[in-house]
Amino acid sequence: RDEFALPFGNYDVSITVPADHILDATGELINRKEVFSKIMMQRYTQAKKSFSEPVVIVTQAEVEAASKGFATNTKTWKFRAEQVRDFGFASSRRYIWDMMAVKIGNRDVMAVSVYPPEGNPLWGEWSTKVVASTLKSYSRMTFNYPYHKAISVHAKNQGMEYPMICWNYGRPDKEGNYSERTKYGMFGVIIHEVGHNFFPMIVNSDERQWTWMDEGINTFVQYVAEQDFGEAYPEAIAPNKKYPSRRGPAKTIVDYMSGSQDRMAPIMTKGLNTYNFGANAYSKPAVGLNILRETIMGRDLFDYAFKTYSRRWMFKHPNPEDFFRTMEDASAVDLDWFWRAWFFTTDYSDIGVQEVKKFYVTSKMNAEVRQMMESRGMKESDLPPLVYLVEEGSDDYEESMETATLNDVVTLQQYIMDNMTPAERAKLKNPRFFYEVTFEKPGGVPMPIIAEYTYSDGSTERITYPVQIWRKNDASVGMVIASEMEITKIVVDPDEETADIDTSNNTWPKRKKLGEFNEFKQKVKG
Ligand SMILES: [Zn+2]
Repeated sequence: RDEFALPFGNYDVSITVPADHILDATGELINRKEVFSKIMMQRYTQAKKSFSEPVVIVTQAEVEAASKGFATNTKTWKFRAEQVRDFGFASSRRYIWDMMAVKIGNRDVMAVSVYPPEGNPLWGEWSTKVVASTLKSYSRMTFNYPYHKAISVHAKNQGMEYPMICWNYGRPDKEGNYSERTKYGMFGVIIHEVGHNFFPMIVNSDERQWTWMDEGINTFVQYVAEQDFGEAYPEAIAPNKKYPSRRGPAKTIVDYMSGSQDRMAPIMTKGLNTYNFGANAYSKPAVGLNILRETIMGRDLFDYAFKTYSRRWMFKHPNPEDFFRTMEDASAVDLDWFWRAWFFTTDYSDIGVQEVKKFYVTSKMNAEVRQMMESRGMKESDLPPLVYLVEEGSDDYEESMETATLNDVVTLQQYIMDNMTPAERAKLKNPRFFYEVTFEKPGGVPMPIIAEYTYSDGSTERITYPVQIWRKNDASVGMVIASEMEITKIVVDPDEETADIDTSNNTWPKRKKLGEFNEFKQKVKG
């Protein structure tokens, strides 16, 4: 399951097949005039200028006519490929063939599909457009696709990649009907396998050592390309508004990361030795990179570093440290903590609100200071004017503190009058509520704290405390907040961006847990 890795080579290949076969392969077809009919040649010329719709080179009607007999003569197809890891070809008398042009930088690349009538209507409608959209997305995220074509070959139930050519599933039933699952399975596998042209066919990592370096990185760009495809072709994903990606978003890895530690290995494990191959080598690295991009580094910085890695290592053989180091040196962001936690351990992310204390301001001396004064024989007038913070519910707390205004806090009022000009005083905020919020981190993976505060008037404010907040204390951190309005609710990670495996501690005040039976009843009702 961890697939082969090969160095780069040049190929000159001649393949002789029955004359009624349609054949496509890795490399440039160098004797097109010998193997194409006149009408195929005309359609091909047209396809090279068609940037929005595929042009059919061999039609379904022609395929069905050809399928009735068997040619007795042969044709030889000749291909030349440079700088490729491998060579693949597909040949059949039952192949429909279509293609369209894609602008990549200032070059035209051909997006190509070959499929039997069994693939239609799905394949004729979408395969080549998916290939074209994938080439654009991957080129934007990495480097301009350097080969002259990318082919998607229909397969009954397989996804497998070779340079410039790949095999993809997604077959309608005999009546031509297909489910959403088949359709999205086909889109996803084509994007994924065409994406493999970039990782590992060009950025040539060794899948047998580091499966995640092509499967994981590729699955990450696949997610970006799926979202692009959904935006470019809304009719393909309707009634969905966004492409429903199976892998990539943080919450898609929560089930896996909250599973049993006995059946989990770090990403940095040889593919053969991992459990749960798909989650370990595809999904978790993809989610990790997506979290870096969306939540930790931001798209600009991440994309620049990721592009630098892709360009620096194209047609070379990177190892994990080459990826880790390039992402750091190109972005100037220290990511050691992230690589360590996400790639070298099986730790998970879990951050919550541990405790919220509420304080009020008063000039009235608190019990602690009063005791200290008495024990030393001092009077209140011996002290400079002081201001005290009193925790709600403590011995010093009085209900009147909740409605006190600045005028009631005499010492503070005096200080302001003595030290500030009327202009400065006019600009002063007037916080009445003071909080000490303690965030806890039971999880081993450090993440930024994304906190959403809701105030008594229903308004919300989101504050992201950067991940470095955990540098000196990895278990809990406290935040002091002064607010003009009462805080009624705090939610950590409201958009589920950090793969937090336990959201029961993410909300304050704690949501009352319904009994299991009540939950069951609600589900039945709903
Ligand atoms: Zn793959």
